[in-house]
Amino acid sequence: MVETQLNIEKIRKDFPILHQEVNGKPLVYFDNAATSQKPQCVIDALTHYYNTDNANIHRGIHTLAERSTTAFENTRKTVGKFLNAAEAEEIIFTKGTTEGINLVAATFGRKFIGEGDEIIISALEHHSNIVPWQILCEEKKCVLKVIPVNEKGELVLAEYDKLLSERTKLVSVNYISNALGTINPVQEIIDKAHAVGAKVLIDAAQATPHARVDVQAMGCDFLAFSAHKVYGPTGVGALYGKRALLEAMPPYQGGGEMIKDVSFSGTTYNDIPYKFEAGTPNIGEVIAFKAALDYVNEIGLENIAAYEHELLEYANELLADVEGFRPIGTADQKASVVSFLIDGVHPFDLGQILDAKGIAVRTGHHCAQPLMEIFNIEGTVRASFSVYNTKEEIKYFVEALKSSIKMFK
Ligand code: PLP
Repeated sequence: MVETQLNIEKIRKDFPILHQEVNGKPLVYFDNAATSQKPQCVIDALTHYYNTDNANIHRGIHTLAERSTTAFENTRKTVGKFLNAAEAEEIIFTKGTTEGINLVAATFGRKFIGEGDEIIISALEHHSNIVPWQILCEEKKCVLKVIPVNEKGELVLAEYDKLLSERTKLVSVNYISNALGTINPVQEIIDKAHAVGAKVLIDAAQATPHARVDVQAMGCDFLAFSAHKVYGPTGVGALYGKRALLEAMPPYQGGGEMIKDVSFSGTTYNDIPYKFEAGTPNIGEVIAFKAALDYVNEIGLENIAAYEHELLEYANELLADVEGFRPIGTADQKASVVSFLIDGVHPFDLGQILDAKGIAVRTGHHCAQPLMEIFNIEGTVRASFSVYNTKEEIKYFVEALKSSIKMFK
């Protein structure tokens, strides 16, 4: 195993929250798939905005409004570059992945998907990539089809081939599963969907923190992600859409900013991306989103991914030695997520005991109830690693796990 060249101790110093005790023990934060911690530069960007630049964007002529508008639009350019979008106008700010997917369902879906049409998702989806399509299907009488998973938690592409037809209007899948960590073969999924004329939305909520996402190379039509999983603030995210599609889609919400002219005899809408950004956004958080992406770029996504993989392999090695350990999701291609059960111990009980030892893991269905149903379980314990985690923490976690299990024997 190649040891990382990253200076993890230095990286850890960038995250003030990590340096505290929880329940009398040093915090071990392994709930990164739910949300990542924030480096000081992101916190500084937020406070700087509120301390010096706070003003509403786009409409003001005064200096503060110009400063906040420039910083806000600079984030759009940074997100565009981060995803390798052809132009910054193809980036729409949202509240997060959930809103990005709902936006596509409510606009593209309402306009371009009709009765009898089909939408394909997968069994690995987060609820936010299931429910918006169920709502649309109920309204438009279209049909939702699901790519199944095998016992390793991998998508069965042979079944996907059978689901695709000229009735397929949209394929919406995640790049990396939050519940199991499976990395999906999105390129193949996109190419096959395009071959039948369907559009593709990629839920990149779990991918952007761990993998280089290049929307032009992938050719996806839409891609959604959340800032808070990539070291940025909560409440903001971005939706990428191809210009021609965004221009053809009706607006999402009505209000200020998304219009050109409003009159009681008829209203005209703004150009993209503003057509989809009604109302005052989370300005400070959008500005701090840039600081998060700059931070990731500075460390290098490839370096982050390689180190996290090292952590994953180390965890798998140690966990294999834990009595009753049952991994859920053993895909060949995985991000740094270990989802598991311990025979005879309820995940919630384990989560509570680990918390008493300062270790934060997630327990439950991970907003993927249909997937849990397929595995015939209620939920799992999920440990998800980030660039600031260490092998020492993993060792401590596995020892804590072993001593917790003894309490139940
Ligand atoms: N999709 C995936 C794969 C996720 O992991 C999550 C969050 O856990 C979401 C969508 C929803 O993201 P958000 O709650 O930030 O909108």
